[in-house]
Amino acid sequence: MSQSQTGSIPTVSIYGIPFSKLTMKETVKVLQEAVLSKQTPYQVITANPIMVMAALENPAIMEVMQAAELIVPDGTGVVWAANYCGDPVAERVPGFELLHELLRVGENYRWGVYLLGSTPEVIQETAVRLQQQYPAIRIVGYRDGYFGPAEDEQVIASIREAAPDLLFVARGADNQEPWIHKHKDALQVPVTMGVGGSFDVISGKTKRAPILFQKLRLEWFYRLLREPSRAGRMLALPKFAVKVMRDKENVTKVR
Ligand code: UDP
Repeated sequence: MSQSQTGSIPTVSIYGIPFSKLTMKETVKVLQEAVLSKQTPYQVITANPIMVMAALENPAIMEVMQAAELIVPDGTGVVWAANYCGDPVAERVPGFELLHELLRVGENYRWGVYLLGSTPEVIQETAVRLQQQYPAIRIVGYRDGYFGPAEDEQVIASIREAAPDLLFVARGADNQEPWIHKHKDALQVPVTMGVGGSFDVISGKTKRAPILFQKLRLEWFYRLLREPSRAGRMLALPKFAVKVMRDKENVTKVR
């Protein structure tokens, strides 16, 4: 077991990426403290095997992941790998559920929330639906995720002005984590988390996998059926599994 960036969070290293061993409940508690203390801006990454493989191929992504304050095991593959290598995590902490848990807790404090990413229609509908579902949350701002580096400064300025407690960013897996990492200090938001396709689901644009697929842990397969263009990227999953089996003794020793 090793410690993460922020010191007190127990982690297991998977190829040098420190995955949190906290349960969902403990994770929410840590982030609640982070918002209330406002001391360190937290970048939360909900990582899966695809991201681990991407980090192993790209040092810039590895750097972003190693600098994050909290990496939670989203994706059954990571939970399996930690277990297989004899240093298990507590449980899977899916990003989609963590987003909802944070909003639930945030209602007690009337936290301000900023939603950044996806298309203008999706983000507007997401804001409406989340406000209905969590009436005590303050949606202090939202905007779509289709902008380039030239607009970064203006986007950051409006987020700072809105002064949210939580910032959720959905701009595609390759984009959102480096963007948050780069601008974390300028943003001055206590907790920022990349949420991938979550706004598409919340707005009703895409459907979550039927319960049967979820129970069988085949959400990835359902998504593949709906979006066959994902096949290439999904090859990372078997590649990850084979690699972990081959490196069994060393996976958790890489720092
Ligand atoms: N997205 C965005 N800006 C971009 C690319 C993607 O706001 O430049 C949004 C997209 O609309 C979607 C979310 O990011 O809501 C996740 O996109 P996608 O599923 O394509 O990315 P993945 O997470 O699979 O990489």
